[in-house]
Amino acid sequence: MIIKTSPDEIQNYLLDSSNFKGFCDAVYFPENEQDISEILKEAFRKNIAVTISGNGTGLTGARVPRGGIVISTEKLNRIIELNREQLYAVVEPGVLLFEFQEKVKEQNLMYPPDPTEKNCYLGGTVATNASGEKTFKYGPTRNYVVEMDIVLPDGDLLKLKRGSVIADGYKLSIKTEADRIINIDLPDYKMPATKNAAGYYCKKDMDAIDLFIGSEGTLGVISKIKLKLIPLPEKLISCVVFFKKEINALNFIAKARDISINTRLRLDPRCIEALALEYFDERTLKFLHDDKPLIPSAAKAGVWFEQEVTMENEDTFFEEWMNLINEFHGDEESAWFAVTEDDKKKIQEFRHSISEKINEYIAKNNLKKLGTDAAVPDDKFEELYYYCKKLVEEEKLNFVIYGHAGNSHIHLNMLPKNEEEYNTGVNIYREICKKAIVLGGTISAEHGIGKLKTDYFLLMYGQDTIDKMIGLKKIFDPDMILGRGNIFNIIT
Ligand SMILES: Cc1cc2nc3c(=O)[nH]c(=O)nc-3n(C[C@H](O)[C@H](O)[C@H](O)COP(=O)(O)OP(=O)(O)OC[C@H]3O[C@@H](n4cnc5c(N)ncnc54)[C@H](O)[C@@H]3O)c2cc1C
Repeated sequence: MIIKTSPDEIQNYLLDSSNFKGFCDAVYFPENEQDISEILKEAFRKNIAVTISGNGTGLTGARVPRGGIVISTEKLNRIIELNREQLYAVVEPGVLLFEFQEKVKEQNLMYPPDPTEKNCYLGGTVATNASGEKTFKYGPTRNYVVEMDIVLPDGDLLKLKRGSVIADGYKLSIKTEADRIINIDLPDYKMPATKNAAGYYCKKDMDAIDLFIGSEGTLGVISKIKLKLIPLPEKLISCVVFFKKEINALNFIAKARDISINTRLRLDPRCIEALALEYFDERTLKFLHDDKPLIPSAAKAGVWFEQEVTMENEDTFFEEWMNLINEFHGDEESAWFAVTEDDKKKIQEFRHSISEKINEYIAKNNLKKLGTDAAVPDDKFEELYYYCKKLVEEEKLNFVIYGHAGNSHIHLNMLPKNEEEYNTGVNIYREICKKAIVLGGTISAEHGIGKLKTDYFLLMYGQDTIDKMIGLKKIFDPDMILGRGNIFNIIT
């Protein structure tokens, strides 16, 4: 097993896409579960902090070490099995998402979880319960994990299969491969009924596998994953439509969301059902205009939608979407309709370029990212949206708002010019988190808490509940060596 210690060789493991920076003594590159287990056994014995590293595309500093050692999963990069007939794949955690999606597509299958950044590892996406454009229809990564191997902080191996270890109310009992029984009293906090990536997944009668999905590298190293796949849709309508009034775009989204959810619930294939429903405000469009001159200058907002279709129903659905666009005065002339695969890729690239450009701006100004990740119940979406806008406009901060509006989940990214503006932005961020909580939502719908959002996480659940979560972690990791500083702002 390779171990790197020289500053030049380890510097890439000391930051992530949030631009938060850290330090460590060494980076380990295990090649199998046995290697992981040995590293952890020694660290556990010596009380050495261990941070697990995926590909560092996270936006919360979660893979950034604050001392101790790093376990990189990059050598664990095999697709072990891809079963076309039974619709599953078995992978190691260091497989790149975009490479996996391509391999799956070659088999005429699809793996729906698709964070906008596809350069992440599958292990990273499971550890953060990542979601993306298609989450509106298909849900987050959690819905696709059917089996998992996890090396626990003391080096013991746990194999979990969805449906095989279920809590009895709030009592969960797990058996490791060394026949050790771990009994857990699950905390009984209530998670928001929105898309959510904040803290441990705990629920009455829950499946044990769900506790580890989204646990942000704090409960164990995910060393093998079995993922569910679905048949590749025959065709896709993909379109970005621009609006001359913001309110029209928001109303378009609200109606498209309602129809889509009703279609899904009634399982009626005759009505439109968006796969993705993404929003871009005027400032986002202006921010990108130099790079994407086809964005109409008069646009006050844009919406990207996708819909799965077949050869037979393509025209009907196209017509239905056009009717909806016209109802809300979307600009048909300037809309981008993807006809070819290349067009679809260009739209995806447009979407990706927003987050990428923001991250570049933040890195260039040597600041940390100030992008909210709040989601609220659908009937509260506009309230949150206007609240966010008002706060930043009052403070005259530069900002952009965009995101997964189908899931009532938006990113307000502040673009401070200096430290003073950054500090103002931090206060605004806090107020937005409070508002999302009051509205029954979450402070993090997809990025997780990491090291940068622990204060807001405290606002969401309060100290008593956080203490219960820490108690849960300590059952596996009494000295809190793993993912130290993630989710909980305590250093032991
Ligand atoms: C431009 C851009 C757009 C993005 N868009 C989205 C989006 O739409 N949706 C979304 O959900 N996210 C998005 N992200 C965030 C990021 O891509 C996801 O969080 C991704 O899942 C992180 O994967 P990674 O491999 O880079 O993990 P890292 O950043 O390396 O690590 C993330 C966390 O996972 C833990 N971890 C990694 N591997 C393992 C493992 N094998 N076992 C246990 N813990 C592990 C780490 O310790 C850390 O806590 C975006 C990021 C960027 C830069």
